[in-house]
Parts: sequence; structure tokens; C-alpha cells
Amino acid sequence: MLKGKVALVTGASRGIGREIALTLAGNGASVIVNYNGSRERAEEVVAAITGQGGSAEAIRCSVADFEESGRMVRDILEQYGRVDILVNNAGITRDNLIMRMSEADYDEVMDTNLKGAFHMIRHLSRSFIRQRSGRIINISSVSGVTGNAGQSNYSASKAGLIGLTKSVARELASRGICVNAVAPGFIETEMTEVLSDKIKEGIKRAVPLGKMGTPRDVAELVLFLAGESAGYITGQVLHVDGGMVM
Ligand code: NAP
Repeated sequence: MLKGKVALVTGASRGIGREIALTLAGNGASVIVNYNGSRERAEEVVAAITGQGGSAEAIRCSVADFEESGRMVRDILEQYGRVDILVNNAGITRDNLIMRMSEADYDEVMDTNLKGAFHMIRHLSRSFIRQRSGRIINISSVSGVTGNAGQSNYSASKAGLIGLTKSVARELASRGICVNAVAPGFIETEMTEVLSDKIKEGIKRAVPLGKMGTPRDVAELVLFLAGESAGYITGQVLHVDGGMVM
């Protein structure tokens, strides 16, 4: 389905990004597994892909750094000649009540989650435009749609991603490039592992389907948006949240 396509997945060393990388590679794409700190885990993702006959490579780079992400993109374009699918998945949380939130925690979340996606799109936009094709998929969150107490920095970054998605979708549509956002609800990863059992129970009660989602639930939607079948979908925010937001 994605044979001959090159996909770049940011924050693919674990969790949702890992599953997206495995899924895109399992469907024929050559995948660049970007990570920031978890080298061994990124190498494990690459090994899992190549072990199944797929093609993958791990590249370290903080998406929060404009220069560093620019260098990564230049290296990738030199080596592969193109990127067809960009998945802006890298994300962090630094939760706190607004009264106690430090400027550093606000900035770090915005720099990674929102500015990181801007950096990647900015660096790759010329190449996408020249190709007159491409898919950009930004991993937002239900928190960016509804807000969430204790997550004002995270929610702001994820809401910002939605604005970025829609503006870039409008800018690049005439070149055949589709840009969409995916808004997961609560997904079982290390990001949500830290939540107390009480909070997890509360989440399950708030989800009509009565359970947390899995990275696979998100990866399947990303695969659809990356593929031929989604060629007439752009500027959208698609929820994978068990019905939390409707
Ligand atoms: P996770 O398990 O904490 O993984 C985060 C990934 O992001 C890691 O691979 C990490 O790489 C990478 N990363 C962090 N900072 C980075 C940077 N500066 N540059 C490059 N990579 C960086 O998180 P997850 O639960 O899979 O979440 C993935 C995405 O889905 C995030 O954007 C998150 O906000 C979003 N999301 C998650 C949920 C959920 O319930 N889990 C819900 C809605 C949205 P290193 O370990 O190498 O640093």
C-alpha cells in the first residue's frame, strides 16, 4: 500500500510513534524513526521493522531545535531524495495547575509539541511543494479540543497544532498536499502510565466505549490518512477517543 514511500515519524522510539512507525513500515513505507533521548529503544523499533523485512533507520534529533531539525531534514532529503509522509508525533507533558506552572514547563511543552511540528513542516515544505504531493499528520489530543485542568500548557500546544494544521492545509492544498490532525483520547502508553488508578477509572467512566485506547487504534487511523484512500481529506481533526468527544 505504501511501497516506495518515505515516512518520517517524530518521537517514534516508544508509545504511539513506535506503533505508527511499525504500521507504516508493515505496509511498505521506508520509515525514519526519529527520537530524542531513547537511542536503544529507537534501535529496537528499527530492528523490529527490519526483522520483518521492512526498511527503517533511527535518527536522533530534538524537534524542538530549529537548527537541529533542519539538519536532520537535509540529511534525510540527501539520502532518500524525498519524504512522502510526515507524522508529527513527538510530544511531552509537564502537567501542573496554572497557579504553579513554571515558565520553563510552559515553554518546554510548547517548544516540543507545537514549535516542533512547525519546525518539521517548515523544513520539509519546499520539498513537499516541489513533489506536488505529500501527507502531513499532526498528533494533537482531545485536550487541545476540550481543554483539561492541570494541562494548560499541553492543551494550548495541542490546540495550536489544530490551527497550524488548518492553516498549512489551506496553504498547501493547491499542491496536492493533505494536512490533517489526529486527536487521540486516553491511550495506553508511558505518558498515561503515570496516572493514578483513580484517575484511570475516572477516564474509563468518561469514555462511552468504556476503555482506554491502544497505540494501534491511533496507528490504524494514521495509516489510513497516509494512504491513497484519504486523498480527498485535508484540514480535518479526526478523533480516536472511544467517543469521549462528540
Ligand atoms: P510517550 O510514550 O511519552 O512517547 C513520546 C515520544 O516523543 C518518545 O518517542 C520521545 O522520544 C519523543 N520525544 C519527546 N521529546 C522529543 C523531542 N524534543 N524530539 C524528538 N522526539 C521527542 O508518548 P505517547 O503517549 O506515545 O504520545 C505520542 C503523541 O501522542 C504525543 O504527541 C502525545 O501528546 C500524543 N497523545 C498521547 C495520548 C495518550 O493518551 N498517550 C493522548 C493524546 C495525544 P525519546 O524518548 O527518545 O525522548
